[in-house]
Amino acid sequence: MNSKLFFAFLLSLPGSPQYFEALEPHMGTMFEIKLYAPDEESAKTAFQAAFARVAQLDNELSDYKPDSELNLATKAAVAHPVHISNDLAAVLITSQMISEQTGGAFDVTVGPLTRLWRQARKNHQLPTPEAIHEAQQRCGYRKLHVDAKSQTMTVDLPDMQLDLGAIAKGYTADEALKVITKLGIHSALVAASGDLAFSDAPPGERGWKIGIGSSDRVLVLTNMAVSTSGASEQFLQSGGKHYSHIIDPATGMGLLNDITVTAISRHGLLADGADTAASVLGCEKGMAFIEKNTELAAFISEKVNGQVHSLESSRFKQLNAGTQ
Ligand code: ADP
Ligand code: MG
Repeated sequence: MNSKLFFAFLLSLPGSPQYFEALEPHMGTMFEIKLYAPDEESAKTAFQAAFARVAQLDNELSDYKPDSELNLATKAAVAHPVHISNDLAAVLITSQMISEQTGGAFDVTVGPLTRLWRQARKNHQLPTPEAIHEAQQRCGYRKLHVDAKSQTMTVDLPDMQLDLGAIAKGYTADEALKVITKLGIHSALVAASGDLAFSDAPPGERGWKIGIGSSDRVLVLTNMAVSTSGASEQFLQSGGKHYSHIIDPATGMGLLNDITVTAISRHGLLADGADTAASVLGCEKGMAFIEKNTELAAFISEKVNGQVHSLESSRFKQLNAGTQ
């Protein structure tokens, strides 16, 4: 048999994996799933189960839905512990760890500030210093207590508001991928806009080809999560300045620097938290934070006066070298 024919025969064998993709809106963005499955039936089953898990996590982790677990628990947990789901506990425990590691640059209790800035973007008007000061009083990761053992959370003040927008999509991409893997599909990729999680390489490939941030870099990776956060993606323009949707909790202001961070980790939860954390810290301090955590690699670029400066972490260089 000539080799070309043999190859075609192999591809058409019943049970050899075929490519399928599906798209659904969730969490204010599009979730896209790509996978290789033996047949259409098993692909459909996987899509349904994965999207159902995404919808479940949206009901638990959303700060937009008034009756999400996150919002109900925050209201109920003022000064006394409230039991929370495995998912909310996992996200909050990692969030608090990143807050500790970044001196509060990353902080999921910034809800009062992110709401103020959302309104400001709608009105095309900067929030007043008084409104920022008032919101800041209700923020601060030290006012949130998460106990892993009893799986509870407590908040110190009423009118606190948690916002998991910086970290929930990475966790969700991971969890959707786990559902797909459990169904016996081992080559899949879940993308929630800038947050990706993927398993084994597509058939015949070395890995998934992943574009890095706004650069022209492409890494070929397997079994990883890659998250990109762009400070200039959503912004408020005022007085010739761009205020990002990412907020520096220390000042209560939207970031002014045009920074893009791509974080890579085996865990989507960590990669998504880290891209936002490093954005707030800025290039040098952000890179120092990434280097300290052995589970993280990153590519950071910042545009200053039209010039792009980029930094690669040591583990990013290793991954890049492994790709070539
Ligand atoms: P995306 O790029 O999908 O918008 P990011 O991972 O960059 O997501 O996170 C941005 C979101 O994080 C904001 O929309 C807001 O909800 C939240 N956020 C803003 N500032 C902070 C902060 N300092 N710490 C934690 N979360 C933040
Ligand atoms: Mg993030």
